[in-house]
Parts: sequence; structure tokens; C-alpha cells
Amino acid sequence: MTTLSPTEKKILQNAIRDIPDFPKPGIVFKDITTLLNDSQAYGVTMNHLYERYKGQNLDFIAGIDARGFIFGAALAQMLGIGFVPIRKKGKLPYTTISQKYSLEYGFDEIEIHIDAFRGRKGARVLLIDDLIATGGTANAAAKLITQADAECVEACFIIGLTFLDGIKNLSEQTSVYTLIEVD
Ligand code: AMP
Repeated sequence: MTTLSPTEKKILQNAIRDIPDFPKPGIVFKDITTLLNDSQAYGVTMNHLYERYKGQNLDFIAGIDARGFIFGAALAQMLGIGFVPIRKKGKLPYTTISQKYSLEYGFDEIEIHIDAFRGRKGARVLLIDDLIATGGTANAAAKLITQADAECVEACFIIGLTFLDGIKNLSEQTSVYTLIEVD
């Protein structure tokens, strides 16, 4: 599967803005709004994701609330497959399966619709989010995909924070791919 060239990585790195002490002291928040409003950087990101995943026989993309929706929904359309939102507790209207998890800064719970994968047992699903930190959110999301009778074939993140154990921990459950790494 394709990976980003050094030039493409540089374009993405330059487009992501660091916000120190957000949402609380000690956290450096990786702001991807400056990537999204840069058509070259957003284009490089989406074209790369398309090239990487077009031959993987994926059935669905599952995106994590909320920034995973931006990349996941666009990619699903490019690949001609369906998009499934994994949402914060209380947002999905139909019957859900839920998982609790711990964040880099707090605790939360996410949910998926019980019929998210349209009854296709073993559906091949790519999980996507903007960033993996502790991996708590993505671990819970990958479990939800399994509980909904599908297979999480890979978890993809625009940014991986390598100074935390998130990537290592999630790798025990599924393949993990990060476009750029921050240490
Ligand atoms: P985690 O469960 O610790 O891997 O946290 C991942 C989730 O929290 C993702 O949905 C990210 O969007 C968000 N997040 C955690 N840490 C940061 C950070 N330093 N900058 C931006 N987003 C973050």
C-alpha cells in the first residue's frame, strides 16, 4: 500500500497548526482546520488516502466524531462506498452499541448504530480519525466495529502522536496507519 512521499509529508506538516495549552494546560492541540482550508494540503491528503485504499476491497469507512467525519465521508464518496459515523453518546437516534473509553484529557463514551453495516457480516471496514493520542477512542471504535459484526481492516489517522502508546496498543487489535507522526 502507498505511503506519503517526504514532500507530501512536509505539505501536511506545514498545514497543521499547533495550539499550546488547548483545551487545557500541557496539551498541544493539533489544529487541522488550517489543513482543511488549504486546498492543496486537503487535496494531497484525500488523494493519498484514495490511492492507498482504492484496491483494498473496502465495504465501508467508519469515521470517529467529529473530525473523522470530514476525512471519512469524503473518502467514502471517492471510493464509492458507504460511510458510518461513530458518535459521542446520545447523538445517534436508532438502537446503538456503546463503548466507554479514556481520553488524553478525560473520559467519554462512543456509539455505533446496531445496523450500521447494513447486516453485511464480515464487512471490510476502514476506521478513520484525524489524530491518535492515547488510542482510547480508536480502541473503543474498533471494538464497536467488531461488535457490529464487521471487520476493522485498518485504522488510519492523519496524525499519530508517537510519544504516547496509542499506536502500539491499537496495533494489537488492528493494522494502524498514520500519514504523519509527531514525537
Ligand atoms: P485518544 O483517544 O487519546 O487517542 O484521543 C484521540 C481523540 O482526541 C481524537 O478524536 C482527536 O481528535 C482528539 N485529540 C486528542 N489529543 C489531541 C491533540 N493533542 N490534538 C488534537 N486532537 C486531539
